[in-house]
Amino acid sequence: MTSIGTRLRELEVATRPEHPDLSAALAARWAQLPAHVKQPNQMLGRRMTGCEGTHGVFPRCDLACTPCYHGKEAQRVGTDGDHTEREVDRQMALLRELRGPGQHAQLIGGEVTLLGPDDHARALQAMIRHGRKPMSMTHGDFDYAYLEALALDPQTGTPRFAHLAFAGHFDSLMLGRRGIKRARSEAELHPYRARFCEMFERLEREHGVTHYLAHNMTITPRNVDEIADVLRATRDMGFRMFSFQPAAYIGNEARWKDDFRAFSTDDVWRRIEQGAGARLHFNAEQVGDVRCNRTAHGIYVGDRYATLLDEDDPRDACALEDFIVAFGGMDFDDRRRRLQAARAARAVARHPAVLRSGSAWAVRLLRRLGGVRAIRRDRPRAITYVMHAFMDARDVKPAWELLQRGELSDEPKIRETQERLQGCSYAMAHPETGTIVPACAQHSVLDPLENLRLAELLPAHEIAAP
Ligand code: SF4
Repeated sequence: MTSIGTRLRELEVATRPEHPDLSAALAARWAQLPAHVKQPNQMLGRRMTGCEGTHGVFPRCDLACTPCYHGKEAQRVGTDGDHTEREVDRQMALLRELRGPGQHAQLIGGEVTLLGPDDHARALQAMIRHGRKPMSMTHGDFDYAYLEALALDPQTGTPRFAHLAFAGHFDSLMLGRRGIKRARSEAELHPYRARFCEMFERLEREHGVTHYLAHNMTITPRNVDEIADVLRATRDMGFRMFSFQPAAYIGNEARWKDDFRAFSTDDVWRRIEQGAGARLHFNAEQVGDVRCNRTAHGIYVGDRYATLLDEDDPRDACALEDFIVAFGGMDFDDRRRRLQAARAARAVARHPAVLRSGSAWAVRLLRRLGGVRAIRRDRPRAITYVMHAFMDARDVKPAWELLQRGELSDEPKIRETQERLQGCSYAMAHPETGTIVPACAQHSVLDPLENLRLAELLPAHEIAAP
């Protein structure tokens, strides 16, 4: 029987703002980060240990993207539910061990919906079992029947998930979507984007399963000038995050169609700002290296968008610092209200200054949003804008190999690549070596061999590119 002492200890741990395993993982992460990213506004090692993704689980896809981060070998690997669940389970176990609980993890590979709905569900359940917050990465070309079968238990017909998170990849660089094999513009894809969001709204209406949807878009010279229009047209469809990936020279060389360096990441961000209708303060908070990632969390009230933090206002920086000192890595998605209230009370007791700076920040934010009347008139909607710029394989390969030998390069481009790899915020687990590697290294260095091995283990007929 559990003693009162044990119960009290469990309660003490459960009401900590941060799980002790996460505290240890955050401290280890902070210690590993290179000096140049250890800024006061750095989220890695303070709020989160990093984003995660799966690899080597279902590398095949039934659409073609130009570019595609997967090597052509990926198409020779069969999609297999048991293999996926086994690998996801092993990878997530290592991430739980090294990165602590409560982190965001993408169920990603080729196309996730090539898994049957039950296999897809088993993979998500394995992720949840290991304390991850899963998000399925898809091209979105599936039907409501698939989504419903994923969400519901086939025995009982009741939801097996209370909530689903999906990232839908939609852009005109993709070929083979049903109904529009080759989109001539981004605008032609708007009905498909809307249909994707409507399926999740229907699922929520009919079965009470809530959702979080992200919109992913690869950017090349062919669609860079359409970013702003895409954002204006899709803002109210139901996406909560818009993520842009300027294309990099990784993966299948046959799919490198353009000069991906014809514009800068600043150019992309400017167009995102045009579409958002506001300046996006990405310097307010940093996730890893700013050359890799820009993030702006914010709120719309009507057409007015305000980022949560004003990067020019030192009072907002101070409020962020107080918030992190008080709450650390506390998971605000936990729906257990009483526990959350106890955690919040302990966080405030740990650093009471957060109350003062936090309430002053809330007043400033309210003013930026147009005041009380505005938010009474238009329901506030949280939207996050992200840009994630992968690196070219020709730089990552030498940079990664030198890092494996503990060497830093004297060549500026390779040194920069090494710095970014060291501050990486998006990584994948290798249980066989007990290591976690940046996604850039995974795609540039490790994927080709991994896919060849998988093609032997799970041979499939190659899918012809549409
Ligand atoms: S995956 Fe590459 S681009 Fe992304 S954060 Fe890591 S190092 Fe930077």
